[in-house]
Amino acid sequence: MTTFHDLGLSKTIVATLSALGFEKATPIQEKAIPLVLEGSDLIGLAQTGTGKTAAFGLPMIEKLLAEARRPDPRNIRALILAPTRELVNQIADNLRDFVKKTPLRVVTVVGGASINKQSEMLSRGTDILVATPGRLLDLVARKAVTLTQARYLVLDEADQMLDLGFIHDLRKISKLVPKNRQTLLFSATMPKLIAELAGEYLVNPKKVEVTPPGKAADKVEQYVHFVPGKDQKTQILKQTLTANPDGLSLVFSRTKHGAEKLMKHLDHIGFKAASIHGNKSQGQRERALKAFRDGEIRVLVATDVAARGIDIPGVTHVYNYDLPEVPDAYVHRIGRTARNGRDGIAIAFCAPDEAHLLRDIEKLMGIKITVASGEAPAIVTAGPGGKSRKGRNNGGQRSGNGRAAQRPQRKPFGDGAQAASEGAAPAAGKRAHGGRPQQKQGERQNRNHGAGNGQGRPSQHGKPRRSEGQRREQA
Ligand code: ADP
Ligand code: MG
Repeated sequence: MTTFHDLGLSKTIVATLSALGFEKATPIQEKAIPLVLEGSDLIGLAQTGTGKTAAFGLPMIEKLLAEARRPDPRNIRALILAPTRELVNQIADNLRDFVKKTPLRVVTVVGGASINKQSEMLSRGTDILVATPGRLLDLVARKAVTLTQARYLVLDEADQMLDLGFIHDLRKISKLVPKNRQTLLFSATMPKLIAELAGEYLVNPKKVEVTPPGKAADKVEQYVHFVPGKDQKTQILKQTLTANPDGLSLVFSRTKHGAEKLMKHLDHIGFKAASIHGNKSQGQRERALKAFRDGEIRVLVATDVAARGIDIPGVTHVYNYDLPEVPDAYVHRIGRTARNGRDGIAIAFCAPDEAHLLRDIEKLMGIKITVASGEAPAIVTAGPGGKSRKGRNNGGQRSGNGRAAQRPQRKPFGDGAQAASEGAAPAAGKRAHGGRPQQKQGERQNRNHGAGNGQGRPSQHGKPRRSEGQRREQA
């Protein structure tokens, strides 16, 4: 285990981190912090929830403190760009925690908020500016801020910034920040355009990578319910929500309209629900997120764009109410839970017209998602025992890229009898992993009868208990 002290951070920062409950560095932090401290440009490839903010934020803060200068009025010392307002606010919140005991000042500028106020905030000079690209350029055009004193440039969630069409803004901004800067680029994926961008704006970058695409999801327990249509999705969702009253659930809908409708329905029947999607104002989104973080709202219905990258600690369940069109989005969605060593459960619903989407997801991740209930639209094949069986329920023996066989086969409901009598969560989930005991035969059978569930009732997934140590081993 690596402490933050080991990585070369000063006492003040280490003490602050300790107060925040940060004792050990995450893998991306372990790799990135020394490189940033030594002044390298950096490309960091890591999924959400891996601790990127501290990975770039801490060494940058350390260096800003060591330089011990104050920014001139309307100037900044460091610039962090992120794709959405929510992400900007989240990064700034984290950084403000980190700089609490220092004189450093963090300012945010985002679209949809008062530009005059932002202008005023910038007037006395800023150590760290966190911004969305569009609004930053507006403020530059108004001469509310100049970037010529900036020595650090961070592009966070770079792939998402490109997805959202910020490429031209990024080019402009990059030209406004002097060449003698240090540039750090973080991205969950490395499409060609990001590689090009990196080639243009980074100098001899070091590359750190922590999780190959698709792998982040390994920490999350995943289940799929095969359902005939929306009504059954809603039905199972309600039952699972009821079974987990203390959970924090994030429900993904494909459309804004669908998200709104589902939220209203849930709210109407007594679940504390809110929604975030593109039709919501900035204020509404922030209020919903805050209520959810505070636990006042237990169910947040979201679309991908509204939710991607947002850090909501404590999400216990992620529902793919609709499967995403793009398989990557599934990985991002379920990455919203099981963050930072916590437990998480992902439940997907698959209607017949979504079967191909599920297939793409499983292919991308190299796994078979455990069937919780329902009948897969299956190809009937002859199993190894000569018995005809449903392809889907053939567990780890299914062909694929070979990883399926290593996939821990989990029981969706824990001990069947126990789950039935208590209507409660399964006990500790055991994983067949790295030398850990393989799952028992009975459990495997349990899984293979997912359709019937033994009790003829929908599943009620609870929170499995697993120790920090176990999880780290799996990471
Ligand atoms: P990313 O940007 O990779 O999605 P974040 O930087 O938002 O991840 O971190 C995810 C969560 O983990 C946050 O709640 C953050 O406070 C927490 N976290 C990050 N690093 C650590 C650490 N070393 N120890 C404890 N918690 C951490
Ligand atoms: Mg982040």
